[in-house]
Amino acid sequence: MTRIDVDEARRLWLEAPDEELKELAQGVRARWHEPNRATYMVMRIINYTNVCVAQCDYCAFYVLPNQEGGYVLSRADVFAKIDELVEFGGDLVAFNGGFNPKLPLDFYCDLFASVRERYGDRVEFYALTIAEFVYLADRARLSHAEAAARLRDAGVHWVTGGGSEILTENFRKRHAKFKYTVREYFDAQRAIVDAGLKTTATMVIGFDETLDERLEHLQRTRDFQDETAGLFSFLCWTYKPYGTAFGGREISPGEYWRHIALSRIFLDNVRHVRTSVLTQNADAFRALDYGADDFDLPIEDEVTQKAGATIELDLEGLLSIPRSLGYTVEYRRAERPAALTT
Ligand code: SF4
Repeated sequence: MTRIDVDEARRLWLEAPDEELKELAQGVRARWHEPNRATYMVMRIINYTNVCVAQCDYCAFYVLPNQEGGYVLSRADVFAKIDELVEFGGDLVAFNGGFNPKLPLDFYCDLFASVRERYGDRVEFYALTIAEFVYLADRARLSHAEAAARLRDAGVHWVTGGGSEILTENFRKRHAKFKYTVREYFDAQRAIVDAGLKTTATMVIGFDETLDERLEHLQRTRDFQDETAGLFSFLCWTYKPYGTAFGGREISPGEYWRHIALSRIFLDNVRHVRTSVLTQNADAFRALDYGADDFDLPIEDEVTQKAGATIELDLEGLLSIPRSLGYTVEYRRAERPAALTT
C-alpha cells in the first residue's frame, strides 16, 4: 500500500467499514512489528504541581496561583512515588504539571538531576511535555535550543509530545489560547530533536474538533517526522469531560479504534502507535487489532483522573486481556537516545 494523502484518509474515515480499516492498518503495522506481538511499560505520571496559568477549558486539574488547593510536590514526595512505581515493577516516570509561574527552569533542572543521580538508568523519565518546555523556555528568556541544552546537561533523555491535544491554530484559540501556538510547538520539538533528546507525538480526540482538524494534526505530525525522524512513537488518547469548563461527552470506543487505525495507516513513518489504557481501560486492547502495537499500564495520573479517568492496579488482570485477544505481550524498557549513550 502506498502512502495516503488527506483526501484518501477522509474517504477512509467516512466510507471504509471497520474490517477494511483494520486490514489496512495491520498491513502498515506489519512493516514494523510481528503481527501478534505487543509491547508495554508500567509507568506513573507524577504531577508535580497543579498550579497553572494556561486555563485550558478542557482541564479539570489546575488551580490558578493564589487559589486554594494549589500544591508543589517536595523532592521526598517525588522519590516516594518513584519508589512505589519500582515496587509495582515499573521503570518509567512521566513528569507533568501546570504552568506554575513560581517554578523556573532551574527548579526542574535540579529536580531532574536529582532523579538521575538517585536512580541512574534504572528508572527512565519523561522530563516535561513540549507544552511545559515552551512555557519554561519563554519564562527563562532562552531559545528553545538553549533550554533543551540545559535539560540535557541535567541528565534528561526525553521531552515528550504531551500537551498537544489537537495541533491546529484554530483549536488552540478555541480552547487553550495561553498555551502555545502550533508554530511554537514544532519549533520547540525540533530543538529537542536537534539537542539529541528523544521525543514522541501525541494526540487527544473527542473535544469538538472537526475531521479536518484531526487530519491536519496527522499531516503535521507526518511532515515533522519526514523532516526530523525524531518521533519515537504516536500515542492517542481520548478527552475526559468530567469537571471541566468545556464539558461535553466521551466518544465511543469504536470511534477511538477507528481513529487508531486511520493514524496507523497515515503515519507510515512512525514506528510505534500506542493505545491508551489510561483513558480507554479494557477497551484499549482492542485497538491492537486496529494497528496499535504498544501501551502503558499507568498507576497514577491525577490530570486525567480528575476529569474522570479510572486506573486499574491489577496489572496481571489487565495483561490477561490482550493475551485473550491472541497477543503475546512483552515488557519494553525505555530507550536511551543513541547520541547520549556512552
Ligand atoms: S491542560 Fe495543562 S496547561 Fe492546560 S490548564 Fe491543565 S495543567 Fe494547565
